[in-house]
This record gives sequence, structure tokens and C-alpha cells, in this order.
Amino acid sequence: MTDHPPMPSVFISHGAPTLALEDAPARRFLCGFGATLPRPRAIVVVSAHWETTAIRVTGAARHEVIHDFFGFDEALYRLRYPAPGAPELADDIVARLRADGMEAARDDTRGIDHGAWVPLMLMYPDHDVPVVQVSICPARNAGFHWQLGAALAPLRETGILVMGSGAVTHNLGEFRQQRCDPASMRTPDYARAFADWVAATLGSGDAQALIEWRARAPHAARAHPSDDHFLPLHAAAGAAGPDFHGRRVHAGFMFGAIGMDNYLFEARSPAPH
Ligand code: ZN
Repeated sequence: MTDHPPMPSVFISHGAPTLALEDAPARRFLCGFGATLPRPRAIVVVSAHWETTAIRVTGAARHEVIHDFFGFDEALYRLRYPAPGAPELADDIVARLRADGMEAARDDTRGIDHGAWVPLMLMYPDHDVPVVQVSICPARNAGFHWQLGAALAPLRETGILVMGSGAVTHNLGEFRQQRCDPASMRTPDYARAFADWVAATLGSGDAQALIEWRARAPHAARAHPSDDHFLPLHAAAGAAGPDFHGRRVHAGFMFGAIGMDNYLFEARSPAPH
């Protein structure tokens, strides 16, 4: 046990990299969100933008940020987020995942991508909380990512914030179309229906429905043509423990159909150690 307060887990929709600089309701929300949570001892981010075949965990003592996007304003490429890493925590995470039968290893060369540093820059602008990033495995299903999150659940009891970073809806083809034709930038009904299904499912703590989202959620194929931006939500929900409740703390869309909903997950009972 430690004297750090137990932490919730959270899911953040990170939107476009421009969220780091341009005013938007989602940006204003994130700027105030960190201060509403107990101060974490460290942050573990499962980001949609690190895709691997087996789980990887950043092990560097200090991170470089990765500007893993193209064609944006020069100012975005000058942004830095010099938060410390946490190599011992990385080792602990790898050990927990392996104990649960998952293949995992440290990667001491990789920095943190914009799925991690853009929301962290807004939530914790002083970059003084150590950060460890964990990859996703898009070839594996939602249940696998739920299990990944569940393996991290005991960390919350020691003051560590577990964050999934992706998007509640993420159809990049429609995003590009709408960027070319801003007049068409209204939020389609399917995106609202999908986001509302997620809110209702998480609100009722229905883990099975969320794991079976491809078959059960309305318009799942259009809301997420690929799984990558939705899998971090399963990790964040899994990290809340089996008796979880997910509360939508911010709702909205940008660029028409890119969902910006954020969730706070709380366990109804403490995670086992
Ligand atoms: Zn993204």
C-alpha cells in the first residue's frame, strides 16, 4: 500500500493534433480535467498511435515526443512535452502482463506519440508527472485489450492514472472529405447513435456488450472502419475492474464525425492486488 490516493481510469478522445493549439470545447475540457482528478504518481497511457504485434511498454527515463502526423502547421512540430519516464514502472507493467499470460516487453528507444502527449499537455501542462506509454495490438480483439487494462487495474490503487487515448468515433475517410468541404461538416446521425450507445453501455457497466461492440453497437463499421482508435477504450474500462461504471464527462464532435467524448471509469469495488 502507498499513501497515494486511488485513481480512476479515463478514456480520452484526442481528436486531431491541432487540439494542442486551437481552441475548441474539447480542448477547454481537457485543460480543466487534470485538476479535477487526484494528483497521480505516474500516468500509463494506452494510445491508438502505437501499433505492435505484441505489447510494448516505453522504458526510457526521459521521453522524446514523436510528431507522428503530416501536413499540419509548423508550430505543432515545435511542441515538446519533456515529462520523465518511469523505467521501474515499465518493468512492473511488463511483469504484470506476463503474469497474465500476455507477451510484453520494454522498448527503451521509443518516445511518446501525439495520442499521449497532446492530451497530457493540456491536462498536465507542467509535464512533471512521469509517463509510461503502452502499445495496442490491432490484430487482437477487444477482449484482449480489456484484459490488458485489467492487468493494469491494481496500479490505480497505488496512485497511478491509467488513460486510454483514441476516439469514440473515428472515420478518417469522412474526416478528410469534410476537411475539403467544410459546408458538409455536420455531425451525421450514425455517429451520434454510436456514441450514445457507448455512453449507455458504459453507464450500465455492461462489459460483455462493449467487448462484442462490432456485432452489437449501431453503425459500428462506419463509426470505426478499423479498430485502432476504439481499443484504448477497452483498456481504460478494463482497468476500472470487473465491477466498473463509466461516466461520460465530456461529449462532442469535431470535423463532423470525429467523436470527442471522454469517460471517467470508477470501480464499484477496489481492484485485487
Ligand atoms: Zn488519433
